[in-house]
Amino acid sequence: MEYREGNMIDGRYRLEQFIGSGSFGEVWVAVDTRTDLEVAIKIYISMDKHGLEEFTKEFQVSFDLNQTNLLHSNYLGVNAEDNRAYLIMPYCPDGSVSSLIGRMDEKALWKFVNDVASGLAYLHGQNPPITHQDIKPDNILISRTGDYLITDFGISRQVRNTLRRSARSASVAGAPAYMGPERYSSSPMPVKASDIWSLGATIYELATGELPFCGMGGVMQKNGADMTLLPDHYSEEFRSLVYSCLSLETWDRPSAKQLAEEAARQLRSLEVTGTTAAIDKVKEEPAASVPNSEDDRRKTQIIHAADNSTVPLGAAPAENRPAASVGSATVRVDQAQSQSEMQVPAGTAPSGVVPPEGNVFGGGLPQTEQKPAFGPAVWIATSAAGLVLGFLLNVLVR
Ligand code: ATP
Repeated sequence: MEYREGNMIDGRYRLEQFIGSGSFGEVWVAVDTRTDLEVAIKIYISMDKHGLEEFTKEFQVSFDLNQTNLLHSNYLGVNAEDNRAYLIMPYCPDGSVSSLIGRMDEKALWKFVNDVASGLAYLHGQNPPITHQDIKPDNILISRTGDYLITDFGISRQVRNTLRRSARSASVAGAPAYMGPERYSSSPMPVKASDIWSLGATIYELATGELPFCGMGGVMQKNGADMTLLPDHYSEEFRSLVYSCLSLETWDRPSAKQLAEEAARQLRSLEVTGTTAAIDKVKEEPAASVPNSEDDRRKTQIIHAADNSTVPLGAAPAENRPAASVGSATVRVDQAQSQSEMQVPAGTAPSGVVPPEGNVFGGGLPQTEQKPAFGPAVWIATSAAGLVLGFLLNVLVR
């Protein structure tokens, strides 16, 4: 059935305005005639009975997920007329952050990182963890209060595959431009760190107006392509954070929690108090310059030439380690990973970039993670003190 303005869904939701469509359905502004409230309705493509059952099960799981940076769907229905599933959710009149690409200043970007990373940290912190698998500007909406909200979460690989089959679409899971290099491997299971790469690509695009790796995603990085550096007017902390998210190796990427904490720290130091203020400012500001100058390219090559001097890494946080997944609604971290998988090789920044040393995200992990708890100097000092004490006691006893 082709939907038009004025159509009633389930005798309750009147379609008012078409917003857009994606691989699995279309989104409309609608009026809930029972409450007279304006809502957004996402009408999915037709699914068979089995697909609908799977989808319903996942809705039950995602219904219990509540965090301020997640767009909560309030209701799942099936339109009796054409048997298509639909979700009712709050309508965000400012749309998605796609409209802000290349128009956000650094303060607004920190706010964005803080919000989205907080939402992701919540999803990744579930037991078992939930990976989003499709972080990109279209899936980050702007709330009426100016907060950033993640949408389309809690849809498993299995249901995505079912939907893809129903759509008879040959498209891959997720948008390739936002997919990290590990998604192009022989075991392309989405892990939490894959969401971090997608977030890095999203932040990079918002900041520069361009996608990293010319929009070809992690497949280019995997094949050794250089990435254009972020413009110098961004702080070292900001650039390091983005580069660490876009690290080639999953374990070199920070966790969502670390990102949220760093962004909160930056926001505190920038004394950004209200989100709306940040967004209003953004809307007035001119587009950020795109780092495509000859200088930037030269700089990339120079850094690449010095690539041997990579920053040493400490052990990656357990939550960053590669995770395994089976086709369920969630992705579990496999506790029984082989030791070799857990060993962290000398870290490298994304091809073509080396994050500046000495700040939180230099080398892809906070410096605090890299310090040994008990160094050799402490050991020598303690042993020497023990010997002197022993000698004195010996003299006293005699
Ligand atoms: P895909 O599903 O292929 O990943 P997509 O996420 O863009 O692509 P949809 O989720 O169908 O596809 O969304 C279509 C459009 O509707 C997008 O531009 C999205 O930002 C917008 N949209 C989704 N939900 C809402 C909402 N609650 N309020 C306002 N706009 C929305």
